[in-house]
Amino acid sequence: MLQVKNVTFGYSKTKVLKAIDFNVKAGENLAIIGESGSGKSTLLKLIYGEHDLKQGQIFWKDEEILGPKYNLVVGYDFMKYVTQEFDLMPVITVEENIGKHLSRFYPEEKQKRTEELIKVVELEDFANTKVKFLSGGQKQRVAIARALAKEPEILLLDEPFSHIDNFQKQGLRRNVFNYLKSKNIACIVATHDRNDVLGFADQMIVLNEAEIIAKDTPQNLYKNPKRPLIASFFGEFNVIEPYGIVYANQIKIVDDSDLKAVVKTSYFNGSSWLIEADYKSESIFIDHDFELKKMQKFNFQFPHNFSLKFLVF
Ligand code: ADP
Ligand code: MG
Repeated sequence: MLQVKNVTFGYSKTKVLKAIDFNVKAGENLAIIGESGSGKSTLLKLIYGEHDLKQGQIFWKDEEILGPKYNLVVGYDFMKYVTQEFDLMPVITVEENIGKHLSRFYPEEKQKRTEELIKVVELEDFANTKVKFLSGGQKQRVAIARALAKEPEILLLDEPFSHIDNFQKQGLRRNVFNYLKSKNIACIVATHDRNDVLGFADQMIVLNEAEIIAKDTPQNLYKNPKRPLIASFFGEFNVIEPYGIVYANQIKIVDDSDLKAVVKTSYFNGSSWLIEADYKSESIFIDHDFELKKMQKFNFQFPHNFSLKFLVF
């Protein structure tokens, strides 16, 4: 188990992280979300032992993670870290980059393992290509495969799919996260992309202004987002008195209701339309099955089971 205990850290006097406290169990998938600059990458670097801690401690099982002051070489065998920069060896092939860290394996086993990992990141067609000829997204795949090569016990992923195009992202996410689960490898994923989290994370931490403002399962945070920042991670939402946070997909357009609005704009979303409408001189956002014309008047309602007691003001 990873234990992050009361860690406070700053590069200068300004604190980038304050009193950070959480655990990650073996095989667990933890997502760290937060706006750009909220300290996600810094937190991963601290867990990896890249900086010395003045306040707080980090443990993997019984071993304390120590910074460069105590370790000549940063990093531990049981932990791998895929950074936002993913530094690979440009002049050797994909296969060689991945196999490079498998020198202790027998050649046959090394080959088998390398092939298995190339399959996980779907780079079969590029196994013998030199990394310098790859696109950013392909390099990112190599970096993930290389980190998995030695089967770490815990993997740190910093915005792991940010360079991969949308056509391939979802399949790759499933491959990588299912692989980690099957090998019982814990992982911490820093991201601002909800698709990296929903369906995969067991727990989710929300960082804001140097602090953890929420930690729960994605399902619970979705159901009870407490703050607009948390709701915004899950999708379009409204803050409506006296209801509090109401997602666009929780509001229904109906034939008859006391609640009335006028269409401003309809945005095509793929599976639905997002209707922006004027309600009491403010914008309200509603998911709807089809487009509504500008200036069209309509009635809407909240779900029947919408109970005020679940909502936060
Ligand atoms: P995130 O990954 O959530 O975008 P970071 O952890 O990269 O956030 O950055 C958090 C804060 O720390 C930002 O204000 C950033 O400018 C600052 N920061 C990050 N790295 C350094 C560094 N090496 N030296 C000084 N300040 C840094
Ligand atoms: Mg970052």
